[in-house]
Amino acid sequence: MAKRVSLMDYHGGNKKASTARVRVAVRLRPYMDKEEVNGKRLCVRGLDSQSLEIVNWRNQLETMHYQFDAFYGNDSTQREVYTGSVYPILSKLLIGQNASVFAYGPTGAGKTHTMQGSPGQPGIIPRAVRDLLQMARAASSTADDETWTYSITMSYVEIYQEKVMDLLEPKNKDLPIREDKDHNILIPGLTQKTINTFADFDEHFMLASQNRTVASTKLNDRSSRSHAVLLIKVQKNQQVVPYRQLTGKLYLIDLAGSEDNRRTGNQGIRLKESGAINSSLFTLSKVVDALNQGLPRIPYRDSKLTRLLQDSLGGSAHSVMITNIAPEEKYYFDTLTALNFAAKSKQIINKPFCQESTQVTVQPTMKRPRDDVEAPTASR
Ligand code: ADP
Ligand code: MG
Repeated sequence: MAKRVSLMDYHGGNKKASTARVRVAVRLRPYMDKEEVNGKRLCVRGLDSQSLEIVNWRNQLETMHYQFDAFYGNDSTQREVYTGSVYPILSKLLIGQNASVFAYGPTGAGKTHTMQGSPGQPGIIPRAVRDLLQMARAASSTADDETWTYSITMSYVEIYQEKVMDLLEPKNKDLPIREDKDHNILIPGLTQKTINTFADFDEHFMLASQNRTVASTKLNDRSSRSHAVLLIKVQKNQQVVPYRQLTGKLYLIDLAGSEDNRRTGNQGIRLKESGAINSSLFTLSKVVDALNQGLPRIPYRDSKLTRLLQDSLGGSAHSVMITNIAPEEKYYFDTLTALNFAAKSKQIINKPFCQESTQVTVQPTMKRPRDDVEAPTASR
């Protein structure tokens, strides 16, 4: 017997097809907490390439099933995530369309691993840059396209406490966001570097990452409380009359941690910071919801992050949100919050999670959920 709490209609399942929809993928990272032995305290697991189940904290005899556009399990590779969710949109940049890819989820759940990765396991950012460079090179050498040249540039900003900082020129600490007459969003004064080769990109990216680290060590955990926004612009210039110019923008974003800081007990400055971050992540969730429901008003202007993304999230842009989650019990409530943000649909099944994990009890040591973690039967 299953109680259905379908969010399909709510998320536009029966509404007119809209190109503005944000595709949502969830990636579960492997189990890492050695104190929780042998997966016994595991509280979430994949079911198929689009869904997962998680134990219901209110009733251990129930599990909750969530469905997404894509689900990547704990054994998924960097290549699978990239080819499944990001590679297909890159060709749109070469025809002047915009796109954004962002990693959402609590600190420690794998956002940076997914976006940046490591030299041995490169993530979405290096893979996308390498492929875009290659695609632009291939396009300029085809006969059809010989009247066009392509150039690729990068900018890298950090949004911290509603301020936009230029990571390639850290003295630019509070840059404005403007809209031109064609509704393109731009940041006047933002550093832009041309990249002809992957080595060019690597050099600028490393420098910017160092600048981010310097800013971050001055204040504890700043990097998990700020949004890192990499912008790759593909510009296509016609070499003959009428000298048209097309620009495609790709935003690759490692978002601030979505954890609830009221639960982790931060105070003072850190609470103020988390307030600012929670509100911009909250605005992002409202924007994604409004887009996926086809609402007429999208609240882009309510935060710097969404204002910056206005021309690249929704509308004619191609947007992908990758929600990173962790399997350990201590992440349970942050996982639920993240899933409720990401889910296309949810279903409560009244059977225990699995035999071995009937020991997964919600113990008194488990901190109380935030007010907005929904009760299983409530709609969003
Ligand atoms: P976040 O950026 O969300 O705080 P990280 O990307 O830093 O999280 O991941 C936390 C830790 O987990 C890192 O040590 C990272 O290397 C590891 N990790 C995350 N995702 C995976 C994965 N899919 N496979 C292997 N290790 C992972
Ligand atoms: Mg990170």
